[in-house]
Amino acid sequence: MPQENNILKILNIQDKNIKLEENYYEKEIVKGELRHLVKAKLSYRPEKCPHCGKIYDHKIIKHGFKKTKIMLPKQSRINTYLILKKQRYLCKHCNRTFTLSSSEVEKHCFIGKKVKASVAIDLTEKSSIKDIAKRNNVSSSTVYRVMTSYYKSIKRKLNYLPKHLCFDEFKSVKSAKGAMSFIYCNADSGKIINIVENRRLYVLKQHFYRYSRQARNSVKKVVIDMYSPYISLIKEVFPKAKIVIDRFHIVQLISRAFNKTRIKAMNSNPNIRNKLKRYWKLLLKPKEELNSTYFRKYICFKKFMSQRTIVEYLISQSDVLYASYNLYQNLLYAIKTKNIKMFKGYLTNLNKNISCYLKTSINTYIKYISHIENTFATTLSNGFLEGLIGKIKVIKRIAFGFRSFHWFKTRILITQNMLAPNY
Ligand SMILES: [Zn+2]
Repeated sequence: MPQENNILKILNIQDKNIKLEENYYEKEIVKGELRHLVKAKLSYRPEKCPHCGKIYDHKIIKHGFKKTKIMLPKQSRINTYLILKKQRYLCKHCNRTFTLSSSEVEKHCFIGKKVKASVAIDLTEKSSIKDIAKRNNVSSSTVYRVMTSYYKSIKRKLNYLPKHLCFDEFKSVKSAKGAMSFIYCNADSGKIINIVENRRLYVLKQHFYRYSRQARNSVKKVVIDMYSPYISLIKEVFPKAKIVIDRFHIVQLISRAFNKTRIKAMNSNPNIRNKLKRYWKLLLKPKEELNSTYFRKYICFKKFMSQRTIVEYLISQSDVLYASYNLYQNLLYAIKTKNIKMFKGYLTNLNKNISCYLKTSINTYIKYISHIENTFATTLSNGFLEGLIGKIKVIKRIAFGFRSFHWFKTRILITQNMLAPNY
């Protein structure tokens, strides 16, 4: 019956023991909504009795059917069900009956595996649990159940860690223990390894001590931001690893300090207040990227100016701003050209006029200098995680209402294709 086989193909039913019945189609209207009902029969010769284990023989006989209704994925947005008559058998060895099972559906479940697979696919996209439930005509608890089955598929390899790791943290869901959750990934591939609910030191230690000593010793570099508990953590659990401070965080420290300097200057010099407020981007920009040849009219200036002359004018208005700007630009350049000797040189012999904010940043640099040296010697960065954390924020916003950290984490791992469903 080729036509019927095609219908089974369209419905994506792969179990060869399922055959359509003669009048296989029926429609049903439930609460004004159309449903497709496809009627079929499941029949095959069982290998043995599942109760007593006796191999199939003449004492295991057919014993009527069990009718079940299995939800299939929607067909052109119409809810579709398979009305499946499953063959029952009576075993005369043990006098018990049993029903045949199909690969299309799990035992005692009326939601077909294909529906669950469809839910699983939807979970990798950015939609809320409620939307996914509605789209697949299942309840929210079914969606959660599919997520759980994903979760079971994680097999942690505790005897392996990649050579290069990067660490970061993100603001977690409210229910999480600890406001910040911890995430770490392979610094070469960007693949997430795991997420830990709480970034407190004792929690992270516990987490990493689950890995074998050999796995921990194989870690050679770890990229982090300037968060000192991570440093003591790495020294203890990854004794062979070099600590690398993420480049972005090194730049951020000094640019934030310089920006605070600008705001302070803005508030204490009313005559250049507007100009400092309007042209803040030019001040933060690397000096060599400023345009010095194109002169035009700028708001706040009476004569023609270039980006460079604006900056020169602004910093000439305050000694603190002038000294701070030069130090900021010098450090930026040393970082950009990866010149550690130059960088270290700028940390000593400080101009007395630099702002207190910059002084604090310099002290932080000095504190972490041995790890900053490692940064200058590598191309590794936390870039992957910064991007990922942006995505996590989106997941939090749309896929919300995760009351528990567990679901939030599972969903993050699913959207990163870290987990495969069991279907
Ligand atoms: Zn039996």
